[in-house]
Amino acid sequence: MSDKVITRFAPSPTGYLHIGGARTALFNWLYARHTNGTMLLRIEDTDRERSTDAATAAILEGLTWLGLTWEGEAVSQFERAPRHSEVAEELVRMGKAYYCYATPEELNEMRETARAEGRPPRYDGRWRDRDPSEAPAGVKPAIRIKAPTEGETVVNDSVQGEVRFPNKDLDDFIILRSDGNPTYMHAVVVDDHDMGVTQIIRGDDHLTNAARQTVIYDAMGWDVPQMAHIPLIHGSDGAKLSKRHGALGVEAYRAMGYLPAALLNYLARLGWSHGDDEVMSMDDMISWFDIVDVNKGAARFDFQKLEALNGIYMRKMDDAELLDIFIATLPYLENGAPILAGLNEKTKAQLLAAMPGLKERAKTLVELADGAAFLFAQRPLALDEKAASLVGEKPRTVLSGAFDALKDVNDWSAASTESAIREFATRSELKLGAVAQPLRAALTGRATSPGVFDVLAVLGREESLARISDQID
Ligand code: GLU
Repeated sequence: MSDKVITRFAPSPTGYLHIGGARTALFNWLYARHTNGTMLLRIEDTDRERSTDAATAAILEGLTWLGLTWEGEAVSQFERAPRHSEVAEELVRMGKAYYCYATPEELNEMRETARAEGRPPRYDGRWRDRDPSEAPAGVKPAIRIKAPTEGETVVNDSVQGEVRFPNKDLDDFIILRSDGNPTYMHAVVVDDHDMGVTQIIRGDDHLTNAARQTVIYDAMGWDVPQMAHIPLIHGSDGAKLSKRHGALGVEAYRAMGYLPAALLNYLARLGWSHGDDEVMSMDDMISWFDIVDVNKGAARFDFQKLEALNGIYMRKMDDAELLDIFIATLPYLENGAPILAGLNEKTKAQLLAAMPGLKERAKTLVELADGAAFLFAQRPLALDEKAASLVGEKPRTVLSGAFDALKDVNDWSAASTESAIREFATRSELKLGAVAQPLRAALTGRATSPGVFDVLAVLGREESLARISDQID
């Protein structure tokens, strides 16, 4: 066996790739990269009622959008069902598991008795040592593992430390149901073993499963992969993550205008950190990440921090690169459609020219689209309320003056229009802002925008003068 690290991400396709799942995938991916290993993907679609193709597609798309690549084809757990029953039968042959013919009524009775006696419901082992010849005719048995009854099962967890489970609390749980379907507990072990997984990284809601899974590994004589159960993500108020806190699918984060790189950076720091570093490149994260450094305590998800980090990423990103991502994301943004519709070589060039000013004022791509909307607005512009108040009566005369000053500018640029407007303001004994504000309103329909001279330069002479004159007449 080589000592190459193999991690896996194993989502159940019963819903989209939610933010907690994305972080689990990220930790698996980072750890694989950090160790020069490999991350595999397994779709845990054994639950046929709740698994959907749409959810599988959304998970693959979410991972792809984030750039969390996996090696080879995604494995379908459901398709491996024959192998799961083969291993269960092998355990029976080895005397490590047995057929159980208990009826639903008997099992129910066991539960009731346990409840009445204040014990946790456990299977009482009634078929554990019974002779198979006593099997009732025509009844399909389930297969149960012979769990150890004494001592403890120890999980050596990279995050949780050494966790001990008294074996008296583990009953002979089912590994293969009477309908021939494997239980989750069993399928995970067989798959992880067959896929050569060396390191399991998943949410700490699976910690107790780790003990049961260890029982199956031991029964088969297989090596138990190194385990790491990472703390769940909570809301900013410390409560369990709900929709309101951000427990959404990653596609919702794309629609909210977050950059994958910023989201990954933010997620990496939920439960893991490297000193006080907040902004980390992917290469930094890969070289610094280690699973043993993940905290035990629950991490808190804070939208404001994510938004601030996203703004930092946008500002430091190269304009052309940001434009590419922006354009690719437009179909998913609630306010992207008008921009997408108006996109051509000219407007693309305008967007690129306006990008330095636009990205200064935006923390998300939605805000960027909002800021860029003026480029795609049709004349005469519909002014929003604030903007309308800025071109009121007196400013209207200001606009006429500004129009006259600008129409004489030949070599149109931010610098030349600025000097013309400054000269006009001085001449008219107006503060620059008293001219710039109505001008901005007329040009963009808004009270806020990138610098007004940049706006003039990006819109060009003809369009700028036309928009101003629309507000004068
Ligand atoms: N399919 C499980 C889940 O989505 C994960 C199982 C595992 O990682 O072992 O919670």
